[in-house]
Amino acid sequence: MVLSVETRSTAVVIPPVEPRNLAKVPFVELADGRLQGVVSSGSDIERVYVSSIGAGTHGLSCSTNNNRPCGGLRGAHPCKHLQALLAEAEAQYGRQRVARYLRVEAEEGVSLLSALKPHHEPTPAATVFSRFLRHLAYLEVPGSGEPIPELHWFPSVRETRSDI
Ligand SMILES: [Zn+2]
Repeated sequence: MVLSVETRSTAVVIPPVEPRNLAKVPFVELADGRLQGVVSSGSDIERVYVSSIGAGTHGLSCSTNNNRPCGGLRGAHPCKHLQALLAEAEAQYGRQRVARYLRVEAEEGVSLLSALKPHHEPTPAATVFSRFLRHLAYLEVPGSGEPIPELHWFPSVRETRSDI
């Protein structure tokens, strides 16, 4: 898929360093002083998690887009969503850039995850999620019949109601 960036001054689509798993982590960014993104639920295709790791602070946050806390994030132990987020961030931006941004000191061969000094620091999901929705809007390419990988995971609004 080729995006014409020059006609869309606000949308900067940077090709990932390595192939990304967009079904698992449809959105990842280094912004707002956090590594943050949206992660599909492993068990429920209708649910997504908004996960983030604070740069420097290494504060961990994970909740559904309705602000329900993630059951897998207990204290300082990163849940599988945060693990997936970090892995995909490395694929998107490269390990060095992610380590620099988060201020993680990790030697070669040591996972960035294990080098974090994490603690639980809940962050409102709404901000990240609205950035994700805007990101999806940028991806709409007029006249393109190609499928957009980021949209494949997207649960229909009707079905998410049953989650309440
Ligand atoms: Zn989680």
